[in-house]
Amino acid sequence: MPPIRGFNDLIDEVFQPVVHLPSHPATLARFGIRALMPATWTAGQFKDDPARALFMGVAAHSFSQLTTPLSSSVGLLLTAAAHAVGWPVAEGGTESITRALLAELAELGGTVVINTRVRSLDGLADLVGSAPDVVMLDTAPAGVLEIVGDRLPSRVRAALSRYTYGPAAFKVDFSIEGDIPWTNPDCRRAGTLHLGGAAEQIVASAAATTSGRMPDRPFVLLGQQYLIDPTRSVGTTNPVYAYAHVPHGYEGDATDAVIAQIERFAPGFHDRILAVSTRNPAGLEAYNPNYVGGDIAAGANTARQIAFRPRVTSNPYSLGVKGVYLCSSATPPGGGVHGMCGLYAANTALSRL
Ligand SMILES: Cc1cc2nc3c(=O)[nH]c(=O)nc-3n(C[C@H](O)[C@H](O)[C@H](O)COP(=O)(O)OP(=O)(O)OC[C@H]3O[C@@H](n4cnc5c(N)ncnc54)[C@H](O)[C@@H]3O)c2cc1C
Repeated sequence: MPPIRGFNDLIDEVFQPVVHLPSHPATLARFGIRALMPATWTAGQFKDDPARALFMGVAAHSFSQLTTPLSSSVGLLLTAAAHAVGWPVAEGGTESITRALLAELAELGGTVVINTRVRSLDGLADLVGSAPDVVMLDTAPAGVLEIVGDRLPSRVRAALSRYTYGPAAFKVDFSIEGDIPWTNPDCRRAGTLHLGGAAEQIVASAAATTSGRMPDRPFVLLGQQYLIDPTRSVGTTNPVYAYAHVPHGYEGDATDAVIAQIERFAPGFHDRILAVSTRNPAGLEAYNPNYVGGDIAAGANTARQIAFRPRVTSNPYSLGVKGVYLCSSATPPGGGVHGMCGLYAANTALSRL
């Protein structure tokens, strides 16, 4: 598969804003032409149904419609990453990444204030002890509008107000006794599974959630990383997380739909459940204000917002306010635990100090 060849060169190119001087123009052009295509077109290039479903499940990560231009981009990149380097798992859970970053910060003399919702630039000096030279907002554009408010130039304010948010996640965490009784034993070899059925069913589910309808069988992403990281388990009690793609701001309870979708591929799963903890879209937004309406991607992955996040500009990290920058996944290259949004925002801030 071409994007796998030269994957490191490709990552150099796509992990930065769309408008840039490419170091590997041929690699980028080859990827760009494929990425432009709808996911349905790319899936159609595969000969058999399992391969089409596999690609579509990965493409559905984007929470976007799968029939529109550029909807192949996320699927191609994540599939190529899976082949080239795998999908790494943090030992001890994602929390260990946070702990490692905190340790690094502490070594550099930094401190962290937690459990404080920032609602305005005023008062930051009290919060951190002195007036900051640089403010990095790791927020969705909604957070920028709230925190920076009237200080934003009107063109930036207008653009951020037009930013759109996508479908939501409905998260269900399980404790289970033993393992998930997958019908297909190969499912035990994967940390992440996409439960959506055939490619056409995944496309239909995405079409429903992107147009505000709850599908009967929502697309479910399931994580069973304990299989390769036993530190997450206690004896034979194992953690499994899942989330369904549901419409933006969905107010219903999708727990049974999630369990039914797992049962579809693992009959008997229900009997292994010891405990369930759920977070609906409102709960997700209360937990993290970036998840507007439960959108964990910090903005809809429409063709426009895949190419230009959060607005069409030569420097998406700049907000037009001296010393204030946006560094969240609402900037290029978008969602994921890659840290590149922060890197480019930091480079912008340093170049202007
Ligand atoms: C369930 C789930 C599973 C995921 N799985 C994966 C995966 O397997 N691989 C992967 O690469 N990505 C995964 N992601 C996506 C990844 O976590 C995000 O794309 C990434 O964390 C986004 O980074 P960010 O810096 O934009 O914001 P965040 O990581 O959301 O950090 C923003 C922080 O700022 C805080 N904040 C926001 N507003 C304010 C405010 N006004 N005042 C104070 N604090 C505020 C938030 O509470 C949060 O702590 C997953 C996301 C979810 C929700």
